[in-house]
Amino acid sequence: MKKVGFFRSIQLKFIIIYILLLLIAIQVIGSYVARELESELLDNYKETINDRIDLLGYNLELTFDKDRSENKEEPTLQEEVQNIVNDVNLGGQSTLQVINNQGRILGTNDYNQDIVGKKITDEIIQKGIKLGTTVDSTYIKRKTGDRILVRVEPILDKEREIKGVIYLETSLESVYDQLSNINDIFFKGSTIALVVSILIGILVARAITKPIIEMRRQAQKMARGDFSQKVKVYGSDEISQLAVTFNHLNDRLKHSMATIEKERSKLSSVLANMSEGVIATDAEGQITLINEAAGKLLSKNPNYLINQNLLEHLELEGKVVGMTELQESGSIILDFSTEEVYLVRANFSKIFDDYDKVSGFITVLSDVTEEEKIERERREFVSNVSHELRTPLTTLRSYLEALTDGAWKDEEIAPHFLKVTQDETERMIRMVTSLLDLSRMDSKAETLQRRRANFTQFLHEIIDRFEMNVKDERIILNRDIPNEETYVWIDKDKMTQVLDNIISNAVKYSPDGGTINFKVEKHMRRIIVSIKDEGIGIAYDKLDKIFDRFYRADKSRTRDLGGTGLGLAITQEIIEAHYGKIWVDSKEGEGTTIYFSLPLMNEMRRRNR
Ligand code: ATP
Ligand code: MG
Repeated sequence: MKKVGFFRSIQLKFIIIYILLLLIAIQVIGSYVARELESELLDNYKETINDRIDLLGYNLELTFDKDRSENKEEPTLQEEVQNIVNDVNLGGQSTLQVINNQGRILGTNDYNQDIVGKKITDEIIQKGIKLGTTVDSTYIKRKTGDRILVRVEPILDKEREIKGVIYLETSLESVYDQLSNINDIFFKGSTIALVVSILIGILVARAITKPIIEMRRQAQKMARGDFSQKVKVYGSDEISQLAVTFNHLNDRLKHSMATIEKERSKLSSVLANMSEGVIATDAEGQITLINEAAGKLLSKNPNYLINQNLLEHLELEGKVVGMTELQESGSIILDFSTEEVYLVRANFSKIFDDYDKVSGFITVLSDVTEEEKIERERREFVSNVSHELRTPLTTLRSYLEALTDGAWKDEEIAPHFLKVTQDETERMIRMVTSLLDLSRMDSKAETLQRRRANFTQFLHEIIDRFEMNVKDERIILNRDIPNEETYVWIDKDKMTQVLDNIISNAVKYSPDGGTINFKVEKHMRRIIVSIKDEGIGIAYDKLDKIFDRFYRADKSRTRDLGGTGLGLAITQEIIEAHYGKIWVDSKEGEGTTIYFSLPLMNEMRRRNR
């Protein structure tokens, strides 16, 4: 978050409010004091003037009352009045005139004595003479701008008749000067108070905002996930209580975050350790969460897939499909096969938000290559079986038809035809028997009857039996078998079947006069048996197929030899049930070697334990 500048800060607001309050207070106090002071000073001044005028008036009344007709020696009224006026000290700039009831000036304190005896027609003086009361008035002198107070005071005789008036003009500037001096002092005082107050205001604002700033800083840290620190609690006022609550909130959040973190790590470890791929997307298919397994199943880096659209990575072959359509189809099989078959099943389910709206999808991916492979093999197997059985049955039918049509009467053809039908039937029986064997092996219905057996001796017996059967020494059987006793844990019947299959193949595909070599070797904890012929061999690209069910390298030819293509498949099943392995080595035209291994007795014990 941006740092709050000083001009936007709460500190400045505090200071401004503080100053404004102070200014208002000063203003109110100042104006009130100024007004009161002004009227007080003016009153005082007027009172002083009143006192003096009263005294003057008294003296003048006495003078006016004096009887002057008897004594001619005495000074005239005008002279006496002038004397009295001269004695009066009004201080400052004042003009004093004494005027009789005719409006003539009897005396003045002016230097200019010429006006004495002149008649004055001033309105205020006329008013004073007429009313016989004190008349006050103020005006502002145009030239100097001074405030002037004018007073007209009547002079009354014993009979309370007006003899004249005292006219006084005095400047009030001295009073206002005093007032402005006082105002100056007040202003200076206020300024000092204001400066001091601002300083104190700043300190107070700091003190108040400091915990708030600390809390703000802490809140920013909390937002970043740092809950390690706490704010300082400075006292017990509201802000301090806020700080306490804030620290409490910090603790709670820390706790909640830890819980959430724990849950999240649990979830992520569950997701990480799942063999199924899990992908969470929003409603449009944008990936928000994906686990390792999902990345592996899609053969893409899961980190790279985040925020990408899932639909683009499902290889839906250009079909524009939305997440909702996919979800409605429940689960789909994604074909990622290139050289090898690779199939992934995707299951979709919706996630709803609080308002029951679809907010996203969970896609679960699983590798179904094996399942699908088995399913395909099963289908293939069924079709193979039907096909393999149909061929001999068709042959049977055509021969039987021929016989019914009259061939039975032909003494030459009939036995031949019957022989063919018999052979075909035999072949079918063999095939069905083999199929039954295989199915028993598959379903593990048949358990092996294993006994301890000396393998070398067992092999000799089997070869002996073949030697008896191979007439005319058409094929030579050569034994490269050590003389020592080699004990293995085998089901003799099944193992006989294994050797019969391998040896009969070798005989079947060997030319006349060919040699079949038998070899037994001990290798680590197992014996390796190899049966090598000098027959037609198997092409390299067909080598790994000969153990498949119904596989025959050359169909037409081997059918003549009565093969079903199931012999080696059964052989492999039996060997593997004995914890052995079977493999082949061959070169076309040079011969074939079939190898198989079996665990030695000690090894078997160890395994069975
Ligand atoms: P069945 O054994 O049921 O009579 P089959 O011999 O044709 O029929 P398998 O024993 O499973 O079937 O053999 C599968 C195929 O492998 C054979 O058809 C043949 O093409 C090839 N094959 C097996 N052994 C040899 C061998 N020794 N030399 C050359 N080809 C062989
Ligand atoms: Mg065979």
